[in-house]
Amino acid sequence: MSIVIKDTEIPGREGRFDVLVEDDIIAGISHSEDGDRVISGAGKYLLPGFVNTHCHAAMSLFRGYADDLPLQIWLNEHIWPLESKLTAEDVYWGTKLACLEMIKSGTVAFNDMYFFMEAAARGVEEMGMKATLSHGFIDLGDEGRREEEIKRTEKFVAHIPGSKLVKPALGPHGVYTVSREGLEWCSRYSRKHELGVHMHLAETEQEMEQFGEGYQGNITDYLGEIGLLNNRLIGAHCVWLDDMDMENISRAGATVSHNPVSNMKLGVGKPMDYPFMRSAGVRVTLGTDSCASNNSLDMLETAKMAALQQKMGGDPTVLTAVEAYHMITRGGAEALNTGGGVIEEGMAADMILLEKGVKGAPGHNPISDIIYSLKGSDVTHVMINGRIVMGDRKVDNEDEIVREATARAMRLLKEVA
Ligand SMILES: [Zn+2]
Repeated sequence: MSIVIKDTEIPGREGRFDVLVEDDIIAGISHSEDGDRVISGAGKYLLPGFVNTHCHAAMSLFRGYADDLPLQIWLNEHIWPLESKLTAEDVYWGTKLACLEMIKSGTVAFNDMYFFMEAAARGVEEMGMKATLSHGFIDLGDEGRREEEIKRTEKFVAHIPGSKLVKPALGPHGVYTVSREGLEWCSRYSRKHELGVHMHLAETEQEMEQFGEGYQGNITDYLGEIGLLNNRLIGAHCVWLDDMDMENISRAGATVSHNPVSNMKLGVGKPMDYPFMRSAGVRVTLGTDSCASNNSLDMLETAKMAALQQKMGGDPTVLTAVEAYHMITRGGAEALNTGGGVIEEGMAADMILLEKGVKGAPGHNPISDIIYSLKGSDVTHVMINGRIVMGDRKVDNEDEIVREATARAMRLLKEVA
């Protein structure tokens, strides 16, 4: 079946266009296309769907549960006790709640790390989203725990053979929660099976003091020795890296997932050094982190926050709307290898329609309007892999997902009370 989006505006192109989708691919862009199904794009921008490169989707169950607390109290007294009670079914519904929110705000693909990832994968596939999923590998230096995490990771990777929607990756949680032996196993396994690696990197100053049991070099030297610093790595946060680290990351072709909202909310101490990363040629993408530390998965909000946070240092020319737009579209899509990220013939049909409305008038600069004025709630249609997953702001089974996820969250609270 073919779908044509009629009479729409594409940022970066002059005029109005019809965009034809055949199967899962953009098959034509011209002033006159015909298809089996027609969707009006009048008064709307057609753009690549957004890509969120760092998330823990199922934590949407914890949104608003424990806010405005110091990081260690937040984790030790609130988040970890709840997580210890989580079941696979909780993760399934929490993931679906997150997918619902992401779809409704224009996200088509995300990079996720958590537990019970077989259940998460089932939720993602049902919602029709693209995701790279990894089991959060944590051994805390304990050999028995390491063996269990290796088995869990192998089982998960075997369970997800890799489809157009869901791909497996390795998820060593961080250098302070995984032993060198654990990281080395992840490195070997990722190389052998050609899998991506998703890990937290340099989020807090404390973490920089804790890694590698007195290791005397830089954190990126450590990762390099272990074999993890390469173009398969997505490092989340990267706030406390020094100049040498950022140059190492650039040379290795690794990707940074910048999470400005989570960083500000958890008070990690300073903004990520985007100007240096940019000059060093690092690929910077954007992530939300989880709903427990954000508390939203809206990538337009994250993009605006990223731009504003950088300008606060005194230079309003840093991190422009165009750069933020690139980070949440093409940059993220390339990092996760989704096949989309650009509105061009032959690309994967991962696209959204964004209503211009009052906030898009008079329309001097579409990219500026998209990043600084329009909201995730202005997204009306979402197409992923050629399939409409949201039409006229409606997603299948929306009420059921909200109801079930809420019931799951309330049951968890009772268990820790
Ligand atoms: Zn995280």
